[in-house]
Amino acid sequence: MQFIDLAEQQRRIRSNIDTRIAAVLDHGKYIMGPEVGELEVALADYAGAKHCISCANGTDALLIALMALKVEHGDAVFVPSFTFASTAEVVPVVGATLVLVDIDPSTYNMCPESLKRCISTAKREGLRPAVTIAVDLFGLPANYPEINEISAENGMKVISDSAQGFGGTINGKRTGSLADITTTSFFPAKPLGCYGDGGALFTDNDEWASIMASIRLHGKGTQKYDNVRVGMNSRLDTIQAAILLEKLKVYPEELNARQYAASQYTSLLENLFVTPRIPEGYSSSWAQYTLAASTRDERDLVMEKARNSGVPTMIYYPKPLHQQTAYSSSMADPSGLENSQRASSTVFSLPMHGYLDEAKIVTTVRALQ
Ligand SMILES: *Cc1c(COP(=O)(O)O)cnc(C)c1O
Repeated sequence: MQFIDLAEQQRRIRSNIDTRIAAVLDHGKYIMGPEVGELEVALADYAGAKHCISCANGTDALLIALMALKVEHGDAVFVPSFTFASTAEVVPVVGATLVLVDIDPSTYNMCPESLKRCISTAKREGLRPAVTIAVDLFGLPANYPEINEISAENGMKVISDSAQGFGGTINGKRTGSLADITTTSFFPAKPLGCYGDGGALFTDNDEWASIMASIRLHGKGTQKYDNVRVGMNSRLDTIQAAILLEKLKVYPEELNARQYAASQYTSLLENLFVTPRIPEGYSSSWAQYTLAASTRDERDLVMEKARNSGVPTMIYYPKPLHQQTAYSSSMADPSGLENSQRASSTVFSLPMHGYLDEAKIVTTVRALQ
């Protein structure tokens, strides 16, 4: 069994993808070709955002967002400790100070109370609280109602790192429209992935949108050789945009299939493990279906048994950021990062994608039982 099966989807839409790729080879506009603009319109429409700006990957999307918000030395940027390194690494790149926030143990997303403590700490250290980067971990949107309010009270902006959460909702509103700026990734294994690297930014703010579009093209002004700001090269390849246009068409159906698989896992496993908690009014894009065991030893034993029955499981993430060499001396919640710590030693994720049939679900559940 595969942990993420990309082949089944490819079999389903292969001929449409071939046609799209052939069209790009025919027109030859490999950089910023017409499919790029077409995709941006389709993605903005899907996400319910006014603007979508595609870019080279999800990490660049975060960097471009921080650059557009003019985050710099002396600014504090708040990031959960339990996430992929990308969310944090862009902060020192722009010269700002990273502050690591703990997570809510039931959702694995940023804890609003911890965020408040971190903001006070940063202020005491003489920093300007500038941006909160909330992560939609495993596909579940972060607690934007509270995080947006706390951030606004402190004069801060909110970036949603929805690399895993694209398509998730809160009260019917999709990621892309839940924070000031939303970023996502089209890395192949993400819920909406292409066949290489890709990413995108979403916002309703016209000024940020035009700045972000400029930054991804070397800080371009009105013409190609007119550079009005410091930028970078972070374009989405036309071929990847063409592939994503076909993948986006089947995405809503795939999200339903993920939701079905997640519900089955939960009803069959909730007596044995801590199953994911989806708060009232929220929906997840199920980038990962993540269980928690009661101890590290139990987790490791269950994973080994599953492996012996041919069922792959993975740990996202085995180390919180505050234990990574690169980030271990970062500023952090003064009350500690206990929940991040505990999650990294007890969680494990099951096979999850849009083409899990009943037989695979049952095989996985039996192996864990
Ligand atoms: C994958 C991921 C990213 C980075 O995306 P890339 O396209 O690989 O650069 C950022 N944040 C989170 C939470 C991710 O899972």
